[in-house]
Amino acid sequence: MAIEQLKAIALLSGGLDSALAIKAVQIQGVDVLAVHYVIPFLRYEHETVCESSAYSICAQLDCRLRIVDISEEFLEVLKNPPHGYGRNLNPCIDCKILMLKKAKEIMHQERAQFVITGEVLNQRPMSQHFRSLQEIEKKSGLGGALVRPLSALLLSVTIPQEKGWLDQKHLFDISGRGRTRQISLAKEWGLIEYPWPGGGCRLTDASFSQRVADLLTHDALSVANVKLSKRGRFFRMTPELFFVVGRNEKENGMLGEQIHPDDTVFYPYILPGPTAIARGKMNDEDIISCARIVARYTQPQGAVEIKITKNGTEQVMSVSQLPQDELKSFLR
Ligand code: SF4
Repeated sequence: MAIEQLKAIALLSGGLDSALAIKAVQIQGVDVLAVHYVIPFLRYEHETVCESSAYSICAQLDCRLRIVDISEEFLEVLKNPPHGYGRNLNPCIDCKILMLKKAKEIMHQERAQFVITGEVLNQRPMSQHFRSLQEIEKKSGLGGALVRPLSALLLSVTIPQEKGWLDQKHLFDISGRGRTRQISLAKEWGLIEYPWPGGGCRLTDASFSQRVADLLTHDALSVANVKLSKRGRFFRMTPELFFVVGRNEKENGMLGEQIHPDDTVFYPYILPGPTAIARGKMNDEDIISCARIVARYTQPQGAVEIKITKNGTEQVMSVSQLPQDELKSFLR
């Protein structure tokens, strides 16, 4: 039976490559639904998906967009990724497999014929080698229904190519980390607003990965804890308690957005200084240690009054700064 309108599901990270992959099939008459996945490691400043460039890209491409939050499933993958981690705590191969499995479900719901991604052969060390791309395709269950338009001419022929739904002359043989061809395609296709490639999610950062490893080790990996740990200085106070201290006014404001009802919040009472949040079980000794850390970042010496709030109750405590070597023993 002839297909009246070809449909594809596109993985849209919000970067240029995924935008170009969409355009490459749109110009062949394919109707595309772009899917932007939310995980807690994206580089959103205020933790809202509205910050994603996926919106402006879809507006420029005149493409439908669906936002799908896979945070909880992603955290399960992160705990024990069958294909391991990259240089830091980034489980790129299993992350891609998860996203493509979800895309396959959407493909069936939408009666689409195939899925596309902006992956480029040899662009990233872990997940974009020829064999990794093959493994991702196999484990996603998509088989030949997965097309990577930017490198399609260098990869195995897919069902849409075999059936002539996609024309070889509108597919590409891009490989490697260079950006020249993508930038010239963007110009040719009138794409003007797109972010410069940032090198993956926050899990590719070494220092942030240490914090995530800390949460993993202490069985505290949750969406809320990851969001809190993205801000400020991170202290492991006890196996059941971590503490985050803002480094500047902007971070203090962002920490304010992450306060949960059970958190204990610390501020200097009169002097200007950081906002800090303690999350987990704490006793009186822990409260004093946290207050002394806040005092350390408030003024160089002498006693400081710290206001401590929890569940609508508040107290003010006068404490001395924690000595530097003690402070360092908690810092991660
Ligand atoms: S960099 Fe992050 S979001 Fe991108 S594939 Fe790797 S784990 Fe997934």
